[in-house]
Amino acid sequence: METTQRPADRGQGSVTATDLDAALESAYAHARAWLGTLPDRRVPPRVGVDAVAEELGRALPDGPTDPAAVVVDQLVAACEPGLTAMPSGRFFGFVVGGTHPAALAADWLVSAWDQNAVLRQVTPAVAAVEEVAGRWLLELLGLPAGSSVGFATGATTANVVGLAAGRDAVLRRAGWDVERGLAGGPRVRVVAGAERHASVDLALRYLGLGLPETVDVDDQGRVRPDALRRALAEGRRGEPTLVVLQAGNIHSGDSDPFAECVPLAHDAGAWVHVDGAFGLWAAAAPGLRHLTAGVELADSWATDAHKTLNVPYDCGVAVVRDAEAARTSMAVHGAYLVQDVVGDPQERVLELSRRARGVPVWAVLRSLGRDGVAELVERLCVRARQLAEGAARLDGAEVLNDVVLTQVCVAFGDDGRTRRVVERLLEEGTTWMTGSVWHGRAVLRISVSNFSTTEGDVARSLDALARAVAAAG
Ligand SMILES: *Cc1c(COP(=O)(O)O)cnc(C)c1O
Repeated sequence: METTQRPADRGQGSVTATDLDAALESAYAHARAWLGTLPDRRVPPRVGVDAVAEELGRALPDGPTDPAAVVVDQLVAACEPGLTAMPSGRFFGFVVGGTHPAALAADWLVSAWDQNAVLRQVTPAVAAVEEVAGRWLLELLGLPAGSSVGFATGATTANVVGLAAGRDAVLRRAGWDVERGLAGGPRVRVVAGAERHASVDLALRYLGLGLPETVDVDDQGRVRPDALRRALAEGRRGEPTLVVLQAGNIHSGDSDPFAECVPLAHDAGAWVHVDGAFGLWAAAAPGLRHLTAGVELADSWATDAHKTLNVPYDCGVAVVRDAEAARTSMAVHGAYLVQDVVGDPQERVLELSRRARGVPVWAVLRSLGRDGVAELVERLCVRARQLAEGAARLDGAEVLNDVVLTQVCVAFGDDGRTRRVVERLLEEGTTWMTGSVWHGRAVLRISVSNFSTTEGDVARSLDALARAVAAAG
């Protein structure tokens, strides 16, 4: 390694090798200590925001402090009691993955390398890593080779990318260039399932499209093809239309019937976008692939790597079949940008400046391989079924969904009792599951997304759930 540190460079803002080593070694020791607590740690934090803020010190310090001894130690001392064991194998809230070791290690390097992953020719190493990871993702998820793959902050912004490319493409087909704005142009119709994720509505709002027209769904929250057919028939011929489908309903885990729905939408001239934040990963597992049959027919897809693939936050993936459409919607042009004719990373996502968040994706794919990813997704599904079977045996319990992937919804009698079970469970802290409402009923929702969840974690969580049920009366 070359070193450029000369004594004459020392001054405010300079860093010695000793300072740097001390800071990194301290962070490493603290990270190991934190990860070491996870197998037995209670999931909830012990203190709230105010207590942590008090420890951090509310006043801005006047002068500098040694990075290792004070910043890292003080940060950890203040934060440790306020950390939630989200990477614990007993965290089943929201849809939250853990962190695979290869991904965590790669993520540390991303920070150390500090490459702004915008322009291919300026940061060739990370552009190459992301291109390889992107091709592997398309292959694993069964999506068309040659699609644009962008590493976004999450499925929310990946939904924005796919829907922006779709909006602009359907407007272009109707003879309208979005650079003129939306006002004065043709209206864009948006049709989506009644149980779409809230982030789809958010994406549509960002894009100036407003709330979608909703299509009826079945008992598992899947779009009914006949209802979609009727909704599409109400449109004018040639009307610019987006259809938003879903792989992975957050309550049932099930996916829309793409093989029927996508051709219907295409017959009506629509662009089809799929929100597949976690459910698209069924396509990577031979035993679960039937859930997403036909998904590859769509035009754009959003998924997360920070959920099922277990890379650290934040990492989503925006895929657009027509790479040129993504480029037209996302690209920034500037005389000072060193642009590559084959296309730059900044032409696939919203951000201009961005960390190389595809690197941890490459690392986990390289570590697991095709079979390892399939096994990961199938194991999450097995754990979900074990939790569902165990929960179903508890007093008054009723599993409301068909457990086809990673999601389980359980009611414990009337809504009041179900809510008491959720409260008691969260107070006790062995495990963390989400209280929600599905099809008009209060439910306890379990989402299995962490690669490290063991049968032991399942057993301990079910014991805790049994105690909560007994305590709820
Ligand atoms: C989590 C999720 C999202 C949003 O993803 P973020 O990564 O939180 O931005 C969108 N759709 C579905 C189905 C999800 O589960």
